[in-house]
Amino acid sequence: MNNIVVAASRNRHKIEEIDAITKKFGMHIISRDEAGVPDIEITEDGQTFEDNSLKKAREIMKLCGQITIADDSGLMVDCLDGAPGVYSARFAGEDGNDEKNNQKLLMLLEGVPEEKRTAEFVSVITMVYPDGNIITARGECRGRIITEPAGDNGFGYDPLFVPDGYDRTFAQLTAEEKNSVSHRAAALEKLKKLLGENMKNREGNED
Ligand code: IMP
Repeated sequence: MNNIVVAASRNRHKIEEIDAITKKFGMHIISRDEAGVPDIEITEDGQTFEDNSLKKAREIMKLCGQITIADDSGLMVDCLDGAPGVYSARFAGEDGNDEKNNQKLLMLLEGVPEEKRTAEFVSVITMVYPDGNIITARGECRGRIITEPAGDNGFGYDPLFVPDGYDRTFAQLTAEEKNSVSHRAAALEKLKKLLGENMKNREGNED
């Protein structure tokens, strides 16, 4: 199997996490730039993580002609009916950033007691092959939102999210710790299984 896979994302943190996890199962992730993909913006206008993940993987695969992997992910807060969800990256507006997104989330949760601050991170990973084959895997990580940011590691909402079973935020965990419990790790673990099944099916079809 050709194990070079192009990352559709330009988010350095996401690529590092995907690379750290997938290299354990023999995948070699290269960036869009390394694959010679022109610097285009993909509009993430889908209503679901699945829609956006597929769109990103498909568009980048068309531009580089190589197996492409995309992650669409976000945070869903229970008492906010699943917001920010697919709007996680631009929760505070198109000109926002991680800090502004976190501030907005804290403002919306002001006065909400600890037991009602439950949330989950979701990651949908899609792999698209040049022959049109598509593999999709979804992973979740449940936890709660604390009242002020803590920790410097990671990105996005990491300083506000404490995964179940821990008393530290994602931003206080080491990369290895986050990569063992995160939504992205769960999705990639499923992807690994699906890749195994996919390979068996393909071999079966060749008989
Ligand atoms: P996407 O690039 O449209 O998938 O946006 C994902 C957004 O969700 C990021 O910009 C973050 O705000 C948030 N997000 C996704 N995964 C994580 C994570 O692992 N930690 C913190 N924030 C995340």
